[in-house]
Amino acid sequence: MKKYIFLAPLFLLFSSCSTVKTAKQTAVDSNPLFDEYFTGTTMRFDFHHAGDCNSENYYFDRVMREGEWAGSRISLINPFDFGEQQFRIIDTESKKVIYKNNYCTLFNEWQTTEEATRTQRSMPESLLFPEPKKDFIIEIYARNKKSREIEKRFSQTISVSDYNIRTNRPCHECTNIHIGGNITNSLDIVLLSDGFTADEKEKFISSCRMWCDALFKYSPFNDSKNRINIRAVWAPSKESGISEPGKGKWVETILDTRFYTFGSERYQMTEEFQKVRDIAAAAPYESIFILTNTDKYGGGGIYNFYGLGSAGETGYTGEVYIHEFGHSLMGLGDEYVEKGNTVSAFYPTDKEPWEANLTTFVNFNGKWENMIDKKTAIPTPFDEKMLKQPQEELTVGAYEGGGYLEKGIYRPTPQCMMNQLRDFCPVCQEAIKRYLDYICK
Ligand SMILES: [Zn+2]
Repeated sequence: MKKYIFLAPLFLLFSSCSTVKTAKQTAVDSNPLFDEYFTGTTMRFDFHHAGDCNSENYYFDRVMREGEWAGSRISLINPFDFGEQQFRIIDTESKKVIYKNNYCTLFNEWQTTEEATRTQRSMPESLLFPEPKKDFIIEIYARNKKSREIEKRFSQTISVSDYNIRTNRPCHECTNIHIGGNITNSLDIVLLSDGFTADEKEKFISSCRMWCDALFKYSPFNDSKNRINIRAVWAPSKESGISEPGKGKWVETILDTRFYTFGSERYQMTEEFQKVRDIAAAAPYESIFILTNTDKYGGGGIYNFYGLGSAGETGYTGEVYIHEFGHSLMGLGDEYVEKGNTVSAFYPTDKEPWEANLTTFVNFNGKWENMIDKKTAIPTPFDEKMLKQPQEELTVGAYEGGGYLEKGIYRPTPQCMMNQLRDFCPVCQEAIKRYLDYICK
């Protein structure tokens, strides 16, 4: 499912967005030694992200301890420049950045809507990191909407001996769907249920098995079975089904997922991210995917936030799962075009997108130029017949159209999972492999 797009007033929106003051950034060094700085437990920082299209603020909510840290104990500094947001954990005493990760949020997408030009609102958000042994500072960064540079927006000192830090003891049942390796060297995926009632547990578990089968149909995931774990957390809802506000249908579900997110019928998401974290905590995890009890086509995926898809048979259920997972795992961009679309809030064509599979040629260096044969023309001519060609015969190049735009942005091949729900193109496959190598260290 595409990200939400608001077309017409975007020129206005961008010209009216002001620059938020930049605070001094804390320098990022190399990965620290895990045992020197961390206890091995997961720590969770909850806050509210509030503002409008012009501005944003972060309001502290609470800090919690959860289960064993499921992430890498070696890759503590995310080396990729992905995402609209970033956070850093700084050791108060040495001022060293001991953990850094990148992400996007539903609030970031809401900021591109027409509603954000005339009203302010907030959404609950939450960050996970390994619990530091000593007092620390958490810093939150966001991209400047004009320059696209990362800027510091929030900073708070946390004392690890603060008695207000509670322990989250999840009470939901966790089932292993596929166990490939130990939690520290694997990608740990947790599948959550929404809109399934107490007597629909088997239906949810069989959807989880289908999700797992779908993932391992695609390269490079099928070559990485021994470093991927998939677990399901069963949390029943009071009522069966999913809300469709545009049709006056409201269903009481545990995660409050709904269609019609930001006015787009097929965009199925939940704003209750802290509730999502509460339930996910029953499993060790790095990546969340929510399966909803509906046959209606739709879903969504946001980088390092969560992915979501309908559990019912919608025709392309398995493909939609993996497409959305491409977004939520590592922020792969949509490679498709929306006819007649010339402006996108997500992809100003005078800036290089951070997504690994899209370029505007503003800074192609470091993207996939080393995978293009020297004889291939750039931009690469596109022919409709290429859509019917076997994928192994396709030439990696830079084809105009992608990120919902017809012009000014380029994708690696004519076909991809991030376009027509086929296999991942070679560029996406390479990017996923690099990301798995980072996560699974
Ligand atoms: Zn691709």
